Amino acid sequence: MFTTNPFDVADGDKLREECGVFGVAGAADAARLVALGLHALQHRGQEAAGITSFDGVDFHTHRAMGHVAGNFDREDVMVPLRGHVACGHVRYSTTGETALRNVQPLYADLASGGFAISHNGNISNAMRLRRDLVRNGSIFQSTSDTETIIHLVAMSKYRTFLDKFIDALKQVEGAYSLIVMTPEGMIACRDPLGIRPLVMGKVGEAIIFASETVALDVVGAAFVREIEPGELVIVKGGEISSHHPFAPISPRPCIFEHVYFSRPDSIAGGRSIYTVRKAIGAQLAIESPVDADLVIPVPDSGTPAAIGYAQQSGIPFELGIIRSHYVGRTFIQPTNEVRHLGVKLKHNANRALIEGKRVILIDDSIVRGTTSLKIVQMMRDAGAAEVHMRIASPPTRHSCYYGVDTPERAKLLAHSKNVAEMNAYIHADSLAFVSIDGLYKALGEPCRADIRPSHCDACFTGDYPTSLTDQDEVASVDQFALLAERVV
Ligand code: AMP
Repeated sequence: MFTTNPFDVADGDKLREECGVFGVAGAADAARLVALGLHALQHRGQEAAGITSFDGVDFHTHRAMGHVAGNFDREDVMVPLRGHVACGHVRYSTTGETALRNVQPLYADLASGGFAISHNGNISNAMRLRRDLVRNGSIFQSTSDTETIIHLVAMSKYRTFLDKFIDALKQVEGAYSLIVMTPEGMIACRDPLGIRPLVMGKVGEAIIFASETVALDVVGAAFVREIEPGELVIVKGGEISSHHPFAPISPRPCIFEHVYFSRPDSIAGGRSIYTVRKAIGAQLAIESPVDADLVIPVPDSGTPAAIGYAQQSGIPFELGIIRSHYVGRTFIQPTNEVRHLGVKLKHNANRALIEGKRVILIDDSIVRGTTSLKIVQMMRDAGAAEVHMRIASPPTRHSCYYGVDTPERAKLLAHSKNVAEMNAYIHADSLAFVSIDGLYKALGEPCRADIRPSHCDACFTGDYPTSLTDQDEVASVDQFALLAERVV
């Protein structure tokens, strides 16, 4: 009988992460632009941040726990980050201890020279690769899935760095938007499905890569284009080249970037995130109308959808919940007790507005149900006559293995409950979710049933676009352990 899970190489640190990446090639004081860019991507990860620069001779790195501000606005930190090329990373790991050794960019001295890497996404066969690499003598410095790429590059039998890098990427499954620095230049690349976003911009002579367009805006860069799924863009001494080393497949960018994750002032897939969220709200009003006095967003994530719902239904939009901006995201609190406390600290009812009113609350998603439960109660305590909950995404029934933090499946409210049971759990007068086809419609796409889906929507449908090697192995080991227990 197994007493420990032999595949659980992470040992306490989960491999899954939410992240943002930003890179600059060809600007004086590149690291200062990276600090600004990371600041604009702070919503993608608030636990730790890091920047690596290259001055033509040496690489310089600073990685720290906490926000970008407070770390990368200090002269003692920024002055040593010299050079015309730099990349950075913001990170939020899911649970467990976050060690500084896992904070990116990760750096290694390879036979070909220095190598720094920033990764947004999650490699779904990292544990399997890591186990094989360790058996072949690799010594890992972190528990991050990203480090497997470094070892695969180091072990590759190909001759040139580019071929080694491509060889490494061909062995990994899952989601990766990467910014890589070598003494030769910078490489930005996206996995063949383009699950996580990555865009390219330009300011002066400098080339910028960023997780979202909002980060280009912040440094005054013009949007050039998205990095295509499966594309590697190489910037070398002012020259840009594009490579497509993978067999082409239909892209499946993450639909949850539109629902929640990206900033509303970003553009993804040619669509304004804000406009899509409003369209989802309007669709929700068409699909699940309710007679009420006020439409109230759960701030800030529900705000654009609530505006769309109000405009479509003609029911007034009001700020019935006021959010404190001095508390971190609900999810950042690691334990359930603190998460409950966090919700109270974060939101407060606008009592004068709510009293005696029938309210429609709009949020982007229900994950564990913690926020909805608290907010519905808060509305009742403030004297609401009726509380109707409307959610601008379908029920989240499946965990994400591609870099969005979701709890294990059993902890998802929609995993074990249908909508009526979820409604009973959150004590609302009614609860409804936008349909999956409604969500695609808001994106301007055909119904999901009619086509091969244009997005990864696995969190709603369970239709994962890659194999989930690590999950399957863990599941089979668990099965084996269960059987062994029964036999004993
Ligand atoms: P819960 O309270 O567990 O049901 O989570 C739902 C709330 O968390 C919603 O208000 C969302 O805006 C927010 N949320 C959803 N997904 C995530 C995520 N991956 N990370 C952080 N917050 C999230």
